[in-house]
Amino acid sequence: MDDDAPVLPRIRPEIASLPVYRQGRQAAADAFKLSSNENPFEPLPGVLTAVHEAAELNRYPDAMATRLRERLAARYGVAVEAVHVGAGSVSLIAQLILAAAGPGDEVVYAWRSFEAYPTLVAVSGATAIEVPLTDDARHDLPAMVAAVTERTRVILVCSPNNPTGPVVTHDEFAAFLDAVPRDVMVILDEAYAEFVTAPDAVDGMRVLGLLGRPNVVALRTFSKAFGLAALRIGYAIGHPRVLDAARATMIPLSVTAQAQAAALASLDAEGALLERVAAIAERRDRLAAGLREAGWRIPDAQGNFVWLPAGTHTEAFAEAFAEEGIIVRAFAGDGLRVSVGEEESVEKVLRVAASVVRTLPEGHPGRTLAWEL
Ligand SMILES: *Cc1c(COP(=O)(O)O)cnc(C)c1O
Repeated sequence: MDDDAPVLPRIRPEIASLPVYRQGRQAAADAFKLSSNENPFEPLPGVLTAVHEAAELNRYPDAMATRLRERLAARYGVAVEAVHVGAGSVSLIAQLILAAAGPGDEVVYAWRSFEAYPTLVAVSGATAIEVPLTDDARHDLPAMVAAVTERTRVILVCSPNNPTGPVVTHDEFAAFLDAVPRDVMVILDEAYAEFVTAPDAVDGMRVLGLLGRPNVVALRTFSKAFGLAALRIGYAIGHPRVLDAARATMIPLSVTAQAQAAALASLDAEGALLERVAAIAERRDRLAAGLREAGWRIPDAQGNFVWLPAGTHTEAFAEAFAEEGIIVRAFAGDGLRVSVGEEESVEKVLRVAASVVRTLPEGHPGRTLAWEL
């Protein structure tokens, strides 16, 4: 044994084996950072003012986020107890999983999907059951139903799916709920709901109103469409008793007064913010159309990002983008996710994407034949 090696405290093996967190690479000052699905617009002046005015830094925030919950409850026509606010919707996913699943239990989700899911499940001690996406990068809901066992406690459904882009439709989701045991929690992660333009997409708020299923919790965030990623604030709508269980697992006072104030000010300015969202969605559609024209076969893009299924070429292509000053998110061996950013980035992304797609071999799933005819 090495005498110099310090004795370290024992760590749970499932935690010790988790990869150490590394943030997407920091962009050079003049690069376009399109790796984290952030909103390219700066905060509205009114939102900044609200954050400033909330700055009683020596005081704890309202632990129950009362004003914001009242506001969201009125907006969605639900009881205040049916709204729960967390420090980003990632923390809400963590709370809900911790509340429902532990060692010996199973949590089902599609894969590839949001990169936080595997870690959040591992931390709970439960076992992750990953169900592959379909060939067109959509959730395979029948296969997810088939993966349910008597150990299943939670199913995560991400619509639009990060990082691939397609939505689950309302009808698919309704049929899925009919097939899932009523005592299994279904988390509908709608981090990109505001960007969706597909008319048949699932809408958690409509599902809760229409189907009234106490096992469904819908999650939304102020990070993406409303551009408050730095402040960490998101919300859950669901059955009050389910949300009480989540509240019991939450780290107290983790939602700051500044975040609550900014969220309220954003709801006040919702019209202006949704105009920006519409501009981003239009930019996304132009980007997707341009990529297809260039010969990429890409899935339906309903969030604020596009997915390039580059397979084994992923890391080389990410490097090609970086050389042109575009930072994208590479999922090694699988594909690249490119966020819809500043208007000036669109043409640049298209230029690089059009040049790299030509290096994909014939028969590669990421390419169509159009451009070689
Ligand atoms: C960004 C994102 C979230 C949440 O982000 P927060 O900043 O924690 O609110 C949740 N789910 C998915 C799929 C996301 O992409």
